[in-house]
Amino acid sequence: MENLTNINVIRDIFERHGFSFSKNLGQNFLINPSVCPKIAEMGNAGEGYGILEIGTGIGVLTHELAKRADKVTAIEIDSRLIPVLKETLAEHDNVTIINEDVMKADLGKIIEENFDGLKVAVCANLPYYITSPVIMLLLESRLPIESVTVMVQKEAGKRLCAELGTRDAGAVTAAVRYYSEPKLLFNVSRGSFMPAPNVDSCVIRLDIKKEPPVNVRDERLFFSVIRGTFSQRRKNLANSLSSSMNMEKSQVMEIIKAAGISENARPEQLSLDDFAALADLFFDHI
Ligand code: SAM
Repeated sequence: MENLTNINVIRDIFERHGFSFSKNLGQNFLINPSVCPKIAEMGNAGEGYGILEIGTGIGVLTHELAKRADKVTAIEIDSRLIPVLKETLAEHDNVTIINEDVMKADLGKIIEENFDGLKVAVCANLPYYITSPVIMLLLESRLPIESVTVMVQKEAGKRLCAELGTRDAGAVTAAVRYYSEPKLLFNVSRGSFMPAPNVDSCVIRLDIKKEPPVNVRDERLFFSVIRGTFSQRRKNLANSLSSSMNMEKSQVMEIIKAAGISENARPEQLSLDDFAALADLFFDHI
């Protein structure tokens, strides 16, 4: 196969297939040859693994994954890329491409049908416009996956991998920590992509936890409390929770006190145990 990170090869493919980038689909393709092998190696692509890829582009990462893993199944929304991939991935007999929107795909079924007997990991250079929704979908669906290794914008990566209790933490940080152990793997400069985006990126890996780190009576309520707490970062805890939970402020203050949390605490100072204690107390009042 020709080198898919070579700009002349990419231009030739585009010309022959009449392809042009779609900004709306977050199409920034990797042209730095050192990045995809690193994602594949650090993302668990190896013997005994089935890899689910999201967003193939012209198959530059897919190729590195297919060289290492037993099986690769990739979901790509852009039907114009399907004939391109037939050509660029022709040498691999362990790749299946599904032309679908990842947000609408039945991921449980895809994993079951494609990765029988294999351990499963997700690897992707994610389209930026759906970074958080895709990550939350992967985590919340409780799919039988070991890890999610993804390229995201640097700022998003900082938030996703932040420690709770620090300024970078947000609602998504708490959710990520509930389901996984996040790790920032390496940074990738904007010049590694074609076309180059306006910001730098990084690759992160979320190692999925087998058991959640805290027990809660109602998981949906737990996440509503987390979202409510971070929804108005400038307001104090009682005010944000009073409006998001639709409850009198005095009652909310009692709950905060009963949970052993200072009423002046800022959202980013709360731990998963604090959110769990709040959610379980709200459970009794709704
Ligand atoms: N993996 C390639 C690379 O690294 O060069 C392409 C990465 S590019 C940032 C994101 C890819 O995701 C594009 O190929 C785009 O068409 C695809 N994509 C965008 N939205 C999608 C969706 N909702 N479902 C599946 N694929 C999507």
